[in-house]
Order: sequence, then C-alpha cells, then structure tokens
Amino acid sequence: FDQIKMTQSDDIILGASPGNIASAAAMIRDGKRVAFSTETVYGLGADATNDEAIAGIFEAKGRPSFNPLIVHFINTAQVANVVDFSETATVLGEAFWPGALTLVLKRKIDCPVSLLASAGLETLAVRVPSHPLAHEFLKQARAPVAAPSANRSGQISPTTAEHVFESLGDKVDAILDGGPCAVGLESTIIDLSCDTPTLLRPGGIAREEIEAVIGPLEVSDGSDDAPRSPGMLSRHYAPSIPIRLNADKANDGEAFLAFGVGTDAADVNLSQSGNLVEAAANLFAMLRMLDQTKYNGIAVMKIPDSGLGIAINDRLERAATS
Ligand code: AMP
Ligand code: MG
Repeated sequence: FDQIKMTQSDDIILGASPGNIASAAAMIRDGKRVAFSTETVYGLGADATNDEAIAGIFEAKGRPSFNPLIVHFINTAQVANVVDFSETATVLGEAFWPGALTLVLKRKIDCPVSLLASAGLETLAVRVPSHPLAHEFLKQARAPVAAPSANRSGQISPTTAEHVFESLGDKVDAILDGGPCAVGLESTIIDLSCDTPTLLRPGGIAREEIEAVIGPLEVSDGSDDAPRSPGMLSRHYAPSIPIRLNADKANDGEAFLAFGVGTDAADVNLSQSGNLVEAAANLFAMLRMLDQTKYNGIAVMKIPDSGLGIAINDRLERAATS
C-alpha cells in the first residue's frame, strides 16, 4: 500500500512517522507549505507569523481575493498569547477544544500573526485541532500554523491525502498523511468579536451544542463568499484616507505606494523587484502604516492583474470604493 502511494505521489505524501512529522515541522519553520490532516478537513499550512509564507498559501490556492485564514494552535494558552481571550471564549474552549470549533477574536495589539492571515482585519480566527498528528506537527513547528482547506479555489475540501495531492500536489512541499478525516466537514465558526456571539459558518459542531453552552447565537446571513450583513461588511479593512489606483505619482499630500523597479522616489514599495508574493505579504501592513501617518490619501501604482495581483487588486479596489 505504501509503495503504491509513493509512486502516485512522488514522495510528497509523508506517512505519520516521527521522522516525517519532524521534517514537516522543519519545513514550516523554513517558510514552506505543508498540507496536513486535521479532524475536519486537510489544511494547507504555513507559519502564521511569516508574511511571505502566508502569501504563498493564497498563491497556491489561486483564489481571486484574500479571505482571512484560520490559525491553528496546540492549546488555549498559546491562543491567548495572540488574541484577547474573552470569558465566552474560555467557556467555549473548555467545552469544545481541541475540536472542530473556530473562534473569531480580537487580535492583541502586538499579535505576531501576519496581518495577511487576518486579511487586514482587527480579528483572527483561531482553532485548536484534536487530530493527534496535527497536534504533534503544530507542537514541533513551534509556531501557529495558518491553514485554509488544502484545495485549489473553487474545489471541494479534501478529506484524504490523495485528494490534496490531486488538487495541490505541485503547490505543496509535503502532505502529512493522517488518514481520512474523522469529521470530514469544516469547523464551525463563531465570531466572538462582536456584541452577540454570531455563527459565521455551520460545521463540525452543531449550533445546538454550542447554544446549550453559551445561549442563543446570532446567525450571519450568507455563505462564506456572499456579502454579509452591513455590520460584517463594515468590518472589512479599508484605510481611513482615500485610495487612488493606477497612479504614476503622488499628488500633494498623498503617500505613494509603489510596485516594481525604477520607483525609488516612492514612500513605500510593495515589492521593489516586482514580485507579487512579496507585494501580497506587504500589502496590509503597508496600507495600515501609511494610514497612520500624516498623509491625506494613498496613491497606488498599477499592479499587474495576474497571479496574486488579482487578489491584491480586488482588495485595493474595495478599499478605493468604500
Ligand atoms: P477555511 O480556512 O477555508 O476553512 O475558511 C476560513 C473562513 O473563516 C473564511 O472564509 C471566513 O469565512 C472565516 N474567517 C476566518 N477569519 C475570519 C475573521 N477574522 N473574521 C471573520 N471570518 C473569518
Ligand atoms: Mg475552503
């Protein structure tokens, strides 16, 4: 059986041996991408504190926009280091972690997790998975691991290592094979960053089970990709100063956000070498930084509309029209 897998997968699929877990964890520390099994679905993992590694996740998935990612931890104490862990979060964590529940909480001011993993939001989605292989992998990685489902954009979530190989085999450095996923559904997502706990996505843990512990949940209308209620929409990140796209230079009072070579007059450059992965990694941090300075607007150079540029332009266009 192992031999068949090896030939099908060109050595990318790693069985759950201690040596394989250790090398997959080392890959995470090196900024690489490792798909791994959890009890819900397979995740496409990268070091959550490494902006470029996170940009690599979006590139691999080929999604035309940035959506925030779920970040995985070994226990509640590690989670509480990076987000404000509320009383309700404590109650839910005690009831359902480790397990198929994701909580959206406010990032701490000094949160070390990449802003790109939050898609620029003030919040972060966090989870403690129960799969023993995921747990050991996270422990050895010694970093929180951001991981959306390990499939190309538009495909269904993978529940075996072979599914991941078919969808992303050429985009991952390794696939850590913990067998078929026991739950096989995505995690349930509860937003605790607003006044009333809100169900953002139904999943592996039933709404009733959660309501039995913390009382009635509000329910967000629309699916993952549909527009949310106005309350949710307003929480999409946009700078407080106007953004002007496809600019050649800054007007008076504007900051200039450049992209590519030959632009050294720029205040800030998303990527001097014109690398879209680097630009994606820098996008939210640079917008936020310019937003907090003396400027009255941000002029952004044209970004190529290919590869990760599509997601970058999607975000910039939303910021420019909001
Ligand atoms: P996936 O990682 O593919 O299971 O999907 C992650 C989903 O979690 C996103 O599409 C969002 O719907 C949701 N999510 C993650 N982070 C946040 C956040 N900070 N605020 C609201 N929703 C989030
Ligand atoms: Mg998905």
